[in-house]
Amino acid sequence: AAKAAGGHVVVYSAGLDEQAEAAERLGADLRHSLEDGDFHVVYQPIVRLSDTRTVAFEALVRWNHPVRGFVSPVAFIPVAEDNGLIVELGEWVMRTACHQLAAWRRDLGPAAPGYISVNVSARQLSEPGFAPVVTGILAENGLEPRSLLVEVTETAIFGGGVAIEAVEALHEAGVLIALDDFGTGHSSLGLLRTVPVDVLKVDKSFVDEISESPGRAVIVDALIHVSNGLGLRAVAEGVETAEQAAYLRSLGYQYGQGYYFGKPVPTPGFTDDQPSIVSG
Ligand code: C2E
Ligand code: CA
Ligand code: CA
Ligand code: CA
Repeated sequence: AAKAAGGHVVVYSAGLDEQAEAAERLGADLRHSLEDGDFHVVYQPIVRLSDTRTVAFEALVRWNHPVRGFVSPVAFIPVAEDNGLIVELGEWVMRTACHQLAAWRRDLGPAAPGYISVNVSARQLSEPGFAPVVTGILAENGLEPRSLLVEVTETAIFGGGVAIEAVEALHEAGVLIALDDFGTGHSSLGLLRTVPVDVLKVDKSFVDEISESPGRAVIVDALIHVSNGLGLRAVAEGVETAEQAAYLRSLGYQYGQGYYFGKPVPTPGFTDDQPSIVSG
């Protein structure tokens, strides 16, 4: 179909219209599910490679759609970013994860994981007052700022300005900062100089190369040097095999995450204890 818009002829493909409608429907469903409590959080271990001890957990959101069942965050996070719901949803994930860590501390004492890792989108970072909301959630749960690692992508902060200021404010407050999916975004190693970073999360695609052609996984090798040279901690993402784990260790990686060590799981015993999404 072609429509005249301001003197220009704009050609719409039916496929795109349908996609836009589907996204709109999904966005409306997200809103309802936020009210109805159809989201939960699962936790994936981040382990020390030398002894596979769990040092932290990454919180990952899950949506149980009332009709469609499980919907991947890869499908709904971009929609929530577009319609702004990610601000509310992301804050709920942050609150839930911090609440969970506090519960682990109470129940497990020194055996509890050292920190919890939470993904934060560009939209959240550019929301005014984001850093105080985060430090408020930490305080509510009696957690010191170093109990939280905020995962941001290169793309989220590449736009600069407000997002970088939010990262700086969090870092200033003592919250740990990770660059997620490192190497896949608008990569500029210069970003590591302009943004305070504690952890590099080396993307799964580079870890996969180890299995494709062992000994030629040049990027994971290069990135551990970058990380060590800058005094950062590196976490290799998406480790699926013993071979990959051993190879990463031989390169000097200290931390890894992936199905080989553990899939994301809801925490048995604590799932009823999550704060309501409509509270507050
Ligand atoms: P991510 O932050 O890079 O998270 C890692 C993703 O890889 C997760 O997918 C995890 O389940 C998956 N994964 C971990 N280990 C392995 C492995 O060994 N093999 C494979 N094939 N996959 C592995 P998930 O949970 O589907 O999340 C996808 C993406 O959605 C995340 O990628 C993140 O970008 C986004 N996301 C998830 N939860 C949140 C959230 O609470 N807030 C925001 N803003 N984004 C989120
Ligand atoms: Ca992440
Ligand atoms: Ca990642
Ligand atoms: Ca990813």
